[in-house]
Amino acid sequence: MELIEIKVDGYERVVAASEKDCGYHAVIAVHNTLRGPAGGGTRFWNYSSQDEALKDALRLAQGMTYKNALAGMPLGGGKAVLIGDNRTKDRERIFRAHGRAVESLGGIYITAEDVGTDPSDMEHVRKETSHVAGLASVTGDPSPITARGVFRAIQAAGKYRWGYDNLSGKKVALQGLGHVGYALAELLHQAGAHLLVSDVDPAKVERAVAKLGASAVASGEIYAAEADIFAPCALGGILNDDTIPRLRAGVVAGAANNQLLEPRHGEALRERDILYAPDYAANAGGVISFGIACLHWTREEMLQKVDAIYDTLLRIFALAEKDGIATSRAADRLAEENLRREPAA
Ligand code: NAD
Repeated sequence: MELIEIKVDGYERVVAASEKDCGYHAVIAVHNTLRGPAGGGTRFWNYSSQDEALKDALRLAQGMTYKNALAGMPLGGGKAVLIGDNRTKDRERIFRAHGRAVESLGGIYITAEDVGTDPSDMEHVRKETSHVAGLASVTGDPSPITARGVFRAIQAAGKYRWGYDNLSGKKVALQGLGHVGYALAELLHQAGAHLLVSDVDPAKVERAVAKLGASAVASGEIYAAEADIFAPCALGGILNDDTIPRLRAGVVAGAANNQLLEPRHGEALRERDILYAPDYAANAGGVISFGIACLHWTREEMLQKVDAIYDTLLRIFALAEKDGIATSRAADRLAEENLRREPAA
């Protein structure tokens, strides 16, 4: 195993790790451990260069510091990225090498799955280190828990905007019916909401139409759908100069990561009086679910913390209104405050 330390201002530890004979090349970035060991998944992606991988690892690790702090997790922020084709069949050797790299950091970083990796990969990591969550045998797929948290975020936004959190009769435009999006659609349907849905995969749309009574909307039309709530559950960067002026919904709350193309788009939503539930507050259910594996919470304790996303959102909305700032900025401020505080036991 070759480990090269990379000095980066504002980061506690960054290493490039490789084991050439098995094709393992990774960057592990530990941004901050003030609240506890840095928690954050491993992304497996075909980066065009080591520099591109490093930039992504740094950006994602910092994002995890904010997400974990805002969710009240006793965890700091970190992330690992593996460079290569994530469809490779030769997974055991690569992920065992990754486990050795994680182990060599001595517990300051706890990994889990992310884009391009899955719970079975984490089982290989586990053979080399105990600093891993997201195992199929312990937590399972976090998506239904993420969906539950997003549902709570939508309820909180409803409470703030309309004075009640009953979603019966509300129209929700939902983009992306994947693992999280479909589970969210089911919860919204049970709550009596009417669904307008889009996905690039027609089979997923057909299932929602048949099983949940949803109305299908063409992919490009979902932004302008006549809805009360827009729930992005597919791609990042979808709140931008092109889409924001087309939105008819008064609330945006969904699961997708990095919904704002640029930070200024948080302000653009505020100017149009659209209540935005910041993505990393709304979609924290996935990281909170890892509390079972890495913090030994019971399932009930974990679900209580997921449900508390409702209260976090109400605090964000109140702070944004009081200080006249975008909700995205208010979320960052609350996360920064939590960073200076001891996590609750
Ligand atoms: P997924 O891959 O299962 O689902 C994404 C869905 O979006 C797919 O059905 C895909 O066909 C669809 N899609 C892609 N492009 C689209 C487009 N242009 N228009 C409409 N639909 C489109 O992913 P997921 O696990 O459900 O995650 C969804 C989002 O939530 C991602 O941004 C992810 O990073 C974020 N997220 C997921 C979790 C989790 O627990 N899975 C946790 C936090 C954040």
